[in-house]
Amino acid sequence: MSTEVEKLQRLSVPAIDEILGKAFKVLDDGFIRVVDYMGSDDAIVQAARVSYGSGTKKVHQDRGLIRYLMRHRHTTPFEMCEIKFHIRVPMDCWRQWIRHRTANVNEYSTRYSIAIDAAQTTTAGEWRLQATGNRQGSAGFLDENDGSKLTDQETELHQLSRDIYEARLDAGIAREQARKDLPLSTYTEAYWKVDLHNLLHFLALRMDSHAQYEIRCYSEIIGKEILSRWCPIAWEAFLDYRVNACQLTGLEIEMLQAINSGDAEKINELGIRNKWLPEDPEAPVKRHRERREFEDKLLSLNVEIPWKHRL
Ligand SMILES: Cc1cc2nc3c(=O)[nH]c(=O)nc-3n(C[C@H](O)[C@H](O)[C@H](O)COP(=O)(O)OP(=O)(O)OC[C@H]3O[C@@H](n4cnc5c(N)ncnc54)[C@H](O)[C@@H]3O)c2cc1C
Repeated sequence: MSTEVEKLQRLSVPAIDEILGKAFKVLDDGFIRVVDYMGSDDAIVQAARVSYGSGTKKVHQDRGLIRYLMRHRHTTPFEMCEIKFHIRVPMDCWRQWIRHRTANVNEYSTRYSIAIDAAQTTTAGEWRLQATGNRQGSAGFLDENDGSKLTDQETELHQLSRDIYEARLDAGIAREQARKDLPLSTYTEAYWKVDLHNLLHFLALRMDSHAQYEIRCYSEIIGKEILSRWCPIAWEAFLDYRVNACQLTGLEIEMLQAINSGDAEKINELGIRNKWLPEDPEAPVKRHRERREFEDKLLSLNVEIPWKHRL
């Protein structure tokens, strides 16, 4: 290794510099903005090559390297990039967000300061119905007429809980106790700093259709508006190899092989073995999550489902 000291340039990304501090609005009164960042696509490549400076490789080779790292889950080079956000988010959404332990957090303190006087509101057309197929999810919306009653109740509840909170403060009650009946819809603010590897993990979980709508709103802005500017090559690779990719299990590969060879007997045998199909073909079809997931994959691959009833 040369003993000569190499002069380094701080990596910067003009596309993200342009939006530094810009608040992207989320939900009715939330936002997310980038406060600071370190690294770029170049930093990922630099770390992967364990070299200094942007090196002598061509741009398309850098792109190929990042895509290779993403495909093969060689994750540590992505940890060389960090980003710091300032977010304003309802507390119920924050409760999901904070479960991601691999970030650095500092949150607005309602022990120290008066709670933010804003709660997430729901318009008449935004009340989501409980999904029947997925106990954690929602599907469709309540009729707007019924929704407007819920919205009126919500307004009343927010006002009442705020009034009670303020009355407690006026009575000299400590902020740490006065806050206890504030609704989970109350907005909080935090600084959230995370490296790119863990941010991608967060996005993979929270941009997914199974994630709750509210946190998806934030993660989609992080992905589409921020990460796409900050590390466009890594973002593209993430979409190609994680978000839009389809992972097949061993059972699914076996079944797909049977489907491809048109072997109806084998399909039935595997279906019964996996408990995806009943032994008696006339028996009523039972819910089976794994079978349902496989059917979704077949549909996305344009492969016909080889049995009568789709779950
Ligand atoms: C759709 C959905 C539904 C969910 N439902 C529930 C629910 O019903 N109840 C509930 O409690 N939670 C639920 N969660 C939260 C979930 O279980 C995780 O806590 C959350 O998604 C954070 O994921 P993580 O631990 O992988 O992330 P991070 O905390 O950011 O960790 C990233 C990775 O680091 C590693 N890691 C971090 N800390 C440790 C550790 N202490 N030991 C070992 N490895 C570690 C793990 O590999 C982990 O995947 C849900 C999440 C989603 C997306």
